[in-house]
Amino acid sequence: MATSGESANDLEDHITEPLNEIDQLRKDKAQLEGDVAHLLRHDQLTGLLNRSAFVSRVDHMLATMDHNSQKGAMIEIGVRGLPRIAGSLGRHVGDYAVSALAARLNTIREDSHLVCRLDYWSFALFMPTIGDPLEVLTKAKTIIAALSQPVDWIDRKIKLEVGAGVALTSASDSEAATLLQNVGLALKAATEKGGPGYGFYNPAMAKASRRRADVLLALTETIEKQTMSLHFQPIFRASTGELVSFEALMRMSHPELGVISPVEFIPVAEESGLIGRLGAWALAEACRVAASWPPHITVSVNISPDQFYSGTLLTDVHNALELSSFPAYRLEVEITESTMLKDSDIVMAQLASLRDLGCAIVLDDFGTGYSSLSYLWKFPFSKLKIDRSFVHALDTAPLMKGMLKSIIDLSRNLGLKITAEGIETDAHVVALREYKCDFLQGYLTGRPATETDISSVILKNFAESLKPKLELSKVIERAAMSA
Ligand code: C2E
Ligand code: MG
Ligand code: MG
Repeated sequence: MATSGESANDLEDHITEPLNEIDQLRKDKAQLEGDVAHLLRHDQLTGLLNRSAFVSRVDHMLATMDHNSQKGAMIEIGVRGLPRIAGSLGRHVGDYAVSALAARLNTIREDSHLVCRLDYWSFALFMPTIGDPLEVLTKAKTIIAALSQPVDWIDRKIKLEVGAGVALTSASDSEAATLLQNVGLALKAATEKGGPGYGFYNPAMAKASRRRADVLLALTETIEKQTMSLHFQPIFRASTGELVSFEALMRMSHPELGVISPVEFIPVAEESGLIGRLGAWALAEACRVAASWPPHITVSVNISPDQFYSGTLLTDVHNALELSSFPAYRLEVEITESTMLKDSDIVMAQLASLRDLGCAIVLDDFGTGYSSLSYLWKFPFSKLKIDRSFVHALDTAPLMKGMLKSIIDLSRNLGLKITAEGIETDAHVVALREYKCDFLQGYLTGRPATETDISSVILKNFAESLKPKLELSKVIERAAMSA
C-alpha cells in the first residue's frame, strides 16, 4: 500500500528496479558463462577452435556419421619455420604470422568444415563429407598455396614453408585421436622427403612409426646397458695395398629385436636427441681402440649433422683425444652432404676448429645426395668418399666409368684424396686403380669387424708388406688377367 507522498508509480519503480537489476545480472552471468565457454573452446591468438574442442566436436561428428555412405577427411597443416621466425624476429612476429595464416585458413574453409589450431606451428581441418579423395587433395593444395604466400611484417616479407598431411575417415578408425595421429604421420612423410609438401596417410606409416618407437626403446636400453659396440672396416691404399685406416661403424644388437642396422637406428637417435650421447661415445671408443694400432693407421668416425648443433662436438672430440692420448692428426671426421646443406656458420666454424686441431675432414657418401660441387670449394676437405652406389653402377652403367674418372680427376685438382666405398669385385679394384683413386674400402678388401678381429688384419697387412707381392696387388693382377 502506498504511503503518503509516494505515488503508485513510485512503488512500481521500487519493485521493478531490483527486478531489472536481477534480470541484467542474469544476462551478465549468461554472457560471462558464454565468454568463458568460448575461451575454453577457442585459441586466444587466432580465435580458431583449440585442440580439445576440435577433438570433441570431430568425435561427435564421427559417432553420428554413417561410415558406409559417408566419407570424411582430416588435413593437418604444418608450418615449418615458425619457431625459427619467433626465435629470430621475436615471439610477437611469430604470433602475428600465425594469426595471418589462421585468417587465410578461415576464408578457405567451408561452413561445414571445422578448423583448429593444433599447436604453435600446425592447424587441422576436418571435412565431414567429401565426394572423393581428389577433393581433399585439391583442398590441401589450395591451403598450401594460400598459406605459402609471404606474410607482410612492416617492411619485411615472411616466407613460410607449408605442408599438409591427409587422412580419410573409416569405420574402423572412427576417433579424432586416431585421425590426428594419421594426419601427423602423413605430414611428416610428406615434408621429410622434400616431395610436393602434401600426402595421404597409408597404414604402412603407422607400422613404420611403431617400429621407430620399438627401435627407440631398444636404443635407450642399449645405451643404458652400455651394449653398443663399434666395428672397424679397413681402408687400403689402392696403389700398394697398404692398410692406412679403419672406419668406425656402430653396431647394435637387442635381445628381442636382434641386430638393428645403423641405417635404421642412427635416424632414430637423431630424431630423439640421443645422437649427441652416442656420437660422443663413438668418438671416445674409436680413439681408445685406435690408440693401440701402429702409428701410421688412422681412424675415421662418422659425425651426424645434429652433433654440430649440440654445442658439445668440439668438447667431445677434445675429451676423446685426451682420454686416450690419441693425436688429432690420426682422427678423421666423416660428414655427409646433409651437414653442409644448411650452409650454416655454426657448422663451418666447428669444421674449421676441427681442422685447426689437426683432424682430417672427410666428405662421405659423395654421389648420394645433391652431389653439389659447391661443397668442394666452400670447405677445404681432406678427403672425398665416393658412395658405393657409384662404384656398383660401374657394373651396369657404361657412362659411370667416365663419370667416376671425372670426379676423381676433379677432386685431385682440388687437392683432395679420394676413397672409393663398396669395393666388392676384382673388377672394381682394377677400374678404380686405373682411375688413380687413392684408397679402397669394401667387402672384398675387408668387412667391418670387432676390435679383436681387426688385430689380425693389421698383423696380416704388416706381414704382407714385408713380402714383395701384396695380397691386393695379386687380386689386381688376377683381375687384370681375367679381364
Ligand atoms: P657410411 O659411413 O657410408 O659407412 C659405410 C657403410 O657401407 C657401412 O654400413 C659399411 O658396412 C657398408 N659397406 C662397406 N663396404 C661395403 C660393400 O662393399 N658393400 C656394401 N653393400 N656395403 C658396404 P653400415 O655399417 O651399415 O653403416 C651405414 C651408415 O650408418 C654409415 O654409412 C653411416 O652413415 C651410419 N653410421 C654408422 N656408424 C655410425 C656412427 O658411429 N655415427 C654416425 N653418425 N653414423 C654412423
Ligand atoms: Mg662413413
Ligand atoms: Mg659412406
